[in-house]
Amino acid sequence: MQLTEKIKSLIRDIPDFPRQGIAFKDITPLLEDPQTVASIVKRITAHYGTQKIDAVAAIEARGFLFGMLLSQALKVPFVPIRKEGKLPFDKIKQEYALEYGNASVEMHSDAVKAGWQVLIHDDLLATGGTAGAAAKLIQQLKGEVAGFSFIVNLSFLPGCEALESNFYRKPHYLIQY
Ligand code: AMP
Repeated sequence: MQLTEKIKSLIRDIPDFPRQGIAFKDITPLLEDPQTVASIVKRITAHYGTQKIDAVAAIEARGFLFGMLLSQALKVPFVPIRKEGKLPFDKIKQEYALEYGNASVEMHSDAVKAGWQVLIHDDLLATGGTAGAAAKLIQQLKGEVAGFSFIVNLSFLPGCEALESNFYRKPHYLIQY
């Protein structure tokens, strides 16, 4: 079976979670298959093979699952981006729009050095709001967005186009719906 087919077979749809009308893509069955996890890490790192990457930044919480593995495979630092109020040290903050209201993500203010090329990773790209806020955090510290990496893209939402037009980086993903 091809890797993309295998990934699709290991992601389950949870209808109306966390609320009515949302089809939640649950990646937990994927985490139970170490061979597929290893293949995913290999595929993503191969995509960025020749590019200079100084750190991987990933978004709480599901972004951490593969984000840390990617940083290990690329042998670069891992930078956690968390929901507001979770990080203990000096931090910077970025707000972004949700369907109803706003949310914020934060990053430690010493996590990215000026000029670093930072790869942003999350499990899934929907509207692009979260990854866009992560990119702005990197830019606040004078880092550069090396790329956006996802396992899943929801292609019926405008996240991919939004990230590309705002940050001039074409998002990379392994499967789409
Ligand atoms: P967005 O900011 O709209 O691109 O949403 C992406 C973030 O929300 C990621 O951290 C995803 O884990 C989560 N997310 C959004 N929609 C879904 C979905 N249908 N299934 C699973 N996670 C989702």
